[in-house]
Amino acid sequence: MKKLILWTFLLIPSAIMAQGIESGKQDMPVKWEELTSPDFITAVEKSARTCVIPLGIIEKHGPHMPLGTDLIDVREVAIRAAEAEFTIIFPPFYFGQIYEAMQQPGTVAYSPQTVLAVLQETCDEIHRNGIEKIILVSGHGGNNSLLPYFCQMQLEKQKDYAVFLFRPVDSEEYEDKLNRMRQTDWDGHAGETETSQMLAHRPDLVHLDKANSQSGKDQQRLESLSFAYTAIWWYAQFPNHYAGDGSYGTAEMGKLIMENKVGQLVEMIRSVKSDRKTLELQRQFYEDSKDPLKTDQ
Ligand SMILES: [Zn+2]
Repeated sequence: MKKLILWTFLLIPSAIMAQGIESGKQDMPVKWEELTSPDFITAVEKSARTCVIPLGIIEKHGPHMPLGTDLIDVREVAIRAAEAEFTIIFPPFYFGQIYEAMQQPGTVAYSPQTVLAVLQETCDEIHRNGIEKIILVSGHGGNNSLLPYFCQMQLEKQKDYAVFLFRPVDSEEYEDKLNRMRQTDWDGHAGETETSQMLAHRPDLVHLDKANSQSGKDQQRLESLSFAYTAIWWYAQFPNHYAGDGSYGTAEMGKLIMENKVGQLVEMIRSVKSDRKTLELQRQFYEDSKDPLKTDQ
């Protein structure tokens, strides 16, 4: 049985390739920072008032990949998806949860208050600019608890916009294909799959010859604990902030992974753009919440 540690890009990539993906078909830039002010107005309409925030982080990626790996990868996926189905891509965003890598050089870890405040204020600012639906696309496994919580937080105060988190699900067909390509039987942060993704679009940033200069093996230092989650678990298992063996990465595998993610993201963007229910239900919910005693019992 192959043991996989899912600690990298996005949650779990998946399968069904959306119909009609053609990149580079847009007549204006998809990146917020590349639009002019006049074009921004058109872009908001063209996007059906949607915007994607690709969320990365600045942390060690083994001894062989750049600190911004998650940011670089997730933005590439989001940009490719937006070129197929127009939406606006927010500028590089690297605020998130990354305390477990603070012992490694180059990590940038903001306080929880700052992370939540920056993300909320960013969403508020995006909405002030006419966007009603904001899509979060995470490139960082360390955000897997933070982002669903951030989405839940949105109900606390009334808002005229909705936040959606991209949650891909792998198909069996895709998983079989990926597993046939695998050369390592355990894989995680900066390991075979994550290294493959970077090799597929930025091979110049990968130093494959360095991938074995540190161990990415599980150190099993908290094996005596049962049914317990504790903050130091990651450091206990992977003190080098490296899980797996990136030296087996291939561009071919990376291409498969990225195409799979882009396909699902295109499908998600399309569904969010055409969605009318979410905002309607949110409005009804806020209205009902003002006077709970009037809610039918
Ligand atoms: Zn990563």
